[in-house]
Amino acid sequence: MTDIEVDYEPVIEILIDILGDYKYHNEYSGQIAFSCPVCSYDIKGLDELDGKGNLEVNYIQGVYKCWSCSETHDTHGRLRWLVKKYGSPRQFKKFDLLMPDDPGEIEKKIYKQVYLPKEFISFTTASAGLKMTPIFKRAYNYIKQRNVTDEMIVKYNIGFCYEGKYANRIIIPSYDSEGDVNFFVARSYEAKPFRKYDNPEAEKQLIIFNESLINWDEPISIVEGPFDSIFVPNSIPMLGKSMSERLFMELYEKAKKIIIILDGDAWANSQKLYYDLNGGRLFGKIWVTKLPVDKDIAELQGDLTEYPPFQIE
Ligand SMILES: [Zn+2]
Repeated sequence: MTDIEVDYEPVIEILIDILGDYKYHNEYSGQIAFSCPVCSYDIKGLDELDGKGNLEVNYIQGVYKCWSCSETHDTHGRLRWLVKKYGSPRQFKKFDLLMPDDPGEIEKKIYKQVYLPKEFISFTTASAGLKMTPIFKRAYNYIKQRNVTDEMIVKYNIGFCYEGKYANRIIIPSYDSEGDVNFFVARSYEAKPFRKYDNPEAEKQLIIFNESLINWDEPISIVEGPFDSIFVPNSIPMLGKSMSERLFMELYEKAKKIIIILDGDAWANSQKLYYDLNGGRLFGKIWVTKLPVDKDIAELQGDLTEYPPFQIE
């Protein structure tokens, strides 16, 4: 999410004028569900809206999609088209002033290609000679201290840099659904680093960390960082304590069950995330785990049996 406060209230008012009352509204993501005019007027031949709430609009991104008729009637795309077709000329003009013709923030941003640092050395493929060096030993000892197993090292291709911009940092790469690197985190293993993390300049808002490893049909755990996610199968790190728009949308469209597992000190964030996610298509599919304040996933080595997930009333 951006920190810039944009007032979407006038846009929402126009949408209500055209599409009637909404069924569900998530102000955090800009997601709002209306009755679908295509389903109501064109398909069912009704004189009024059907009240089903199948039309999902995201006014922040300026897009819409109907869960019922998007496949058969192509009911998805840019919001301005919907307003133009079903709104009056006056409503469209007002909308156009508020949201000028603009392909939408997310579509406009082009993925900046990310490469692993050229000094990157995978723990798995390091040469025998290198394994003898103190630099290697320090890096390796650090991840062992953090309970990272050899199996995880292989699965996530964890490595480190012995020199260059990311010297003395553990690297956890992220691979997209095509298997290409789209991000990495570089965690210092110095005792008192100037900066704990030094991550590449990429739109971390636009990537799903290690999307290549996610099975959307299985329950998905949401964790804070990559060092948590390597301990929890089928988990996605938010790369922070709040969720990006992109991740929210992907989950909203694809997830079948979500378990929120943030650090013990982030219970307020967990609750907020729970309520943000628990709506619309995802209603009733959200679970949350509460860890003790002084515990995190890595410390527990991913063993959460003592802290089973639950749903909040
Ligand atoms: Zn529809």
